[in-house]
Amino acid sequence: MSGKDVKTSAWSGSRRLLKLLRDQMKGKSTDQDRLRQTVQLIARDMDAEVCSIYVMRPGDFLELAATEGLKPEAVYKTRLHKGEGIVGQVAALALPMAVSDAPRHPNFAYRPETGEEPYQSMLGVPILRSGRVLGVIAVQNVTHRHYHEEEVEALETIAMVLAELISGGALTVSAIETQGSLEEREKPDRLKGLCLNEGLGIGQAVFHNRGIVISRIIADDPEDEVRRLEVTVAEMRSSIDEMLTRTEIAALGEQREVLETYRMFAEDRGWVGKITEAIRVGGMTAEAAVQKIQNETRSRMSKISDPYLRERLADLDDLANRLLHHLLGLGDEKLELPDEFILLARTLGPAELLDYDWDRLKGVILEEGSPTAHVALVAQALELPILGRCRDVLSRIREGDTLVLDATNDQVFVRPKEDVLKTLRLNVKDKKVRWEEITAARDVASVSLDGHRISLNVNVGLLIDLPHMHAAGADGVGLYRTEVPFMVRQSFPGVADQADLYRKVIDRSEGKPVVFRTLDVGGDKVLPYWSTVAEENPAMGWRAIRIGLDRPALLRQQLRALIRACQGRELNVMFPMVAETAEFLAAKALLDRELERETSIGGVLPKKIRVGAMLEVPALIWQLPSLCREVDFLSVGSNDLLQFVFATDRGNTRLARRYDALNPGVLKLLRTIADSTTAAGVDLSLCGDMAAQPLEAMALIGCGFRSLSMPALQVSAVKKMVRSLDVAQVTEFVSGLLDEADHSLRGRLEEYAKKSGVVI
Ligand code: PEP
Ligand code: MG
Repeated sequence: MSGKDVKTSAWSGSRRLLKLLRDQMKGKSTDQDRLRQTVQLIARDMDAEVCSIYVMRPGDFLELAATEGLKPEAVYKTRLHKGEGIVGQVAALALPMAVSDAPRHPNFAYRPETGEEPYQSMLGVPILRSGRVLGVIAVQNVTHRHYHEEEVEALETIAMVLAELISGGALTVSAIETQGSLEEREKPDRLKGLCLNEGLGIGQAVFHNRGIVISRIIADDPEDEVRRLEVTVAEMRSSIDEMLTRTEIAALGEQREVLETYRMFAEDRGWVGKITEAIRVGGMTAEAAVQKIQNETRSRMSKISDPYLRERLADLDDLANRLLHHLLGLGDEKLELPDEFILLARTLGPAELLDYDWDRLKGVILEEGSPTAHVALVAQALELPILGRCRDVLSRIREGDTLVLDATNDQVFVRPKEDVLKTLRLNVKDKKVRWEEITAARDVASVSLDGHRISLNVNVGLLIDLPHMHAAGADGVGLYRTEVPFMVRQSFPGVADQADLYRKVIDRSEGKPVVFRTLDVGGDKVLPYWSTVAEENPAMGWRAIRIGLDRPALLRQQLRALIRACQGRELNVMFPMVAETAEFLAAKALLDRELERETSIGGVLPKKIRVGAMLEVPALIWQLPSLCREVDFLSVGSNDLLQFVFATDRGNTRLARRYDALNPGVLKLLRTIADSTTAAGVDLSLCGDMAAQPLEAMALIGCGFRSLSMPALQVSAVKKMVRSLDVAQVTEFVSGLLDEADHSLRGRLEEYAKKSGVVI
């Protein structure tokens, strides 16, 4: 193979090139022009006919963003998957590749639109930033050129400069940044990972090492840089020593040993030696040399599967960051941090974790990491939730995003909607106090003074709520709002995904019954990935079972998932917003079809199936005789029922206090419902907010309700009320008030409770 061996003094040319690059970034040209000029400069400097920049796009593919030498029409058209072609291979391995006979290379991927037929040799280097591949720079030559090591290094340095320009904001090219529309990037999302330490934390996303921007790459005098490095390494070592003597760390016990090992790395001559060599041979500044060695460590790390070795390399990565902080004078500078934040990093060392303010730090999410990672051990000691192996965390989350880290269930909710956030906050705020409140009455029976058993259940929407059911000593899940897990995702979950989730809910309920409500979206509950038509009156619009019946495939998929999740166990399912008995029958027919389908393919069916409806639409009250013949149970959704009964939007704050749930008319209505269902032998429950207050719950029992469902936190208070209540007496008292003209019976009920010793 003959080829043109080019000059080996590529380096001196590169210094000039780097200066030119920097100058042109200061100019007024557009980002796309800057990219084009960049590839022209590199091609000229490297004696190459072609220079192209490919950028990494979400979904792990590379897109041609600028080229000198290939056909301009190919820009933003040519795409390669990570691993595909030589360019894709460079991105996949995060390593440079020099090939003198590219078309014959087993990895070569021909793209006719680029017009690359004449080019024989190729050199590609990754554009790396914090261990992430942002893109690839590739040069090509017509000849079978052998690229020298110095040339590879020179192109790597250029790639480093580009990466820094991008992260420093000088090249904020839409071309390099994630494309997706702004709207797309505002949507809620949920990422899966691996729990490294259990717990739940809410806070704003903060990227680790966001302060590191290297602006000087080429050394004016390499020997000066070596001296700077030596001084800084000594400084770093003493700051590690100092950290180890801090009282909080000394108290960490065995975790302290982890940090001791870490100090040994800082003493490691080999590591510092490599950095020194990069300064002397490459003519780089100390910080550029540290980053070069760090990039090498990272690409080694990506290929090592041995967890022990990976850990050692992660420690080195941590040290390199620490050294960069010192070199850039960021050591003691406290970056402004939000009051509550979640730290995001590719990897994180134990010492780096300890650098943050523990009061504000609410959790950690890593792209890598294992349960035995040092950082996980330290997080355990600090009782800090930590999620590892969370792929794409650095590209799908933006600085400042609101995050709910649910490490216990291997997930993080990104930019959750306010209602989801509200549910989650309940689990976090004053964790200790709340937990005490929840468990207060766990072991006592929910039985009234005169021996009536009142079933108390919980309303849940996410897996994290389930432990609370057990802690509260509740009888089961009275309402599982299936739309909540749909609301925190980016796309509609398929049958397998749904079945998987419902199975977890059943498993974690440990034999206690769970009532699944089918999807109740529309109205105020919007799915981020579902574009709905704006409606004049969404609460009374196309929502819940109305969507389910108009789009039966959707409802059938959910029912199929529920059947599969409950194989050999009990399935309790109810439909929301039913307005007619006929609607209930239509929904039940879909369930029957799914059961037949499952039987026909040899699936295992649930051992018992109970089908019910939510009573939220007043029209259903006059159909109770027919409805009670069809349903196994009914659950009153008082939130919706009251908004329709009083004709008041439940979300309108101006109307919030206008009508009271303890209005005599409402209680009379509820009494009618209880009487009808008791007569028909249909189980009845109430799962709206009304059940959650002891006074309201007392009135409900007085109206004939024997089962209530509420947030777990309220169970103990309601249980206390039940245990101090005489059911026969309160029933008589309430019955005597139903035809009164009061705006609300609240005052009279409070008085009754006080007089009779009912704990409200
Ligand atoms: C209700 O309407 O009372 C109810 C429990 O359902 P949601 O609050 O989810 O609409
Ligand atoms: Mg409702």
